[in-house]
Amino acid sequence: MQLLAATRNRHKLGELRAILGASFEVIGLDAVPTAADVVEDEPTFAGNAAKKAVWAVQLAPRDMLALADDSGLEVDALDGAPGVVSARYAQETAGPRPTDQQNDVKLLCALADVPAEKRTARFQCVIAIAGVSPMLAVVAKQAGAPCARRGDWTVALCAGTCEGRILFEPRGAGGFGYDPLFVPVGYDATFAELGEDVKNSISHRARAMSRAKALLDAIGSRGLTR
Ligand code: IMP
Repeated sequence: MQLLAATRNRHKLGELRAILGASFEVIGLDAVPTAADVVEDEPTFAGNAAKKAVWAVQLAPRDMLALADDSGLEVDALDGAPGVVSARYAQETAGPRPTDQQNDVKLLCALADVPAEKRTARFQCVIAIAGVSPMLAVVAKQAGAPCARRGDWTVALCAGTCEGRILFEPRGAGGFGYDPLFVPVGYDATFAELGEDVKNSISHRARAMSRAKALLDAIGSRGLTR
C-alpha cells in the first residue's frame, strides 16, 4: 500500500519506513510538487497533525492515505509549555527558527527555581492518518482510536506519550531537541544518553507509530483503501 507522509524530514521518513515494513511504500513530500508548507497554528498536537494530514491527502491520488505527525514536550510546572510551540519555544529572543540549544536554554531558565520533584514532563506525539476510505473509520473504531470527518476526508488519530522529568543541565550527545534534558520514567539517563535503540523502543513517537501501524495493517489486510 502506498502512503504519503507529510514530511520532508529524511530521518522521520526512514523511521516510518523501518516501523511500517515492506508492505507499505512511504512517499515523502519531496516526491510531490507542492506550494508552501502548511502552517502549524492549531492549539493541540492532534489539531496540527490532522490539519497536516488533510492538507497532504489532497496532494495525493484519491485512493492514497496520507499520514502526518505533530509532537512536543509538555512540562507540568510550566502549565504544559512549550507544548505545540516546542520547535520554536525560544523564538522571541532567537528569531523564527531557534536552535535546539536555544530552546533548551530557555527551558532551563524557565525552570531555574523549580525543584527536582516538580520537574515532571512528558513528550507527546500524535499521528493523523487521512483518507477517503470508509475502512479507515471502521478500523479506527475497532482500535479505539479517535476518528473524525473533515470535509470529504476521514482522519484517524494515534497518540503516544512518554513520561519523564527535566534535569538542571544537559547530558548526552545523541538525539535532538530536548533529548539532553529529558530523563524518561524508569531510567537514570537522558534520551540523549540512552541511544537510538532504547529511545525508539519507549518514545512517544514509537508508541504513536505502533498504533498507526496496527491501523494501517488492518486496512492493508482487508485490501481496501477506498
Ligand atoms: P515536530 O513534531 O517535528 O514539529 O517537532 C516538534 C518539536 O518538539 C521538535 O522540534 C523538538 O523541539 C520537540 N520534540 C519532539 N519530539 C522530540 C524528541 O523525541 N526529542 C526531543 N525533542 C522532541
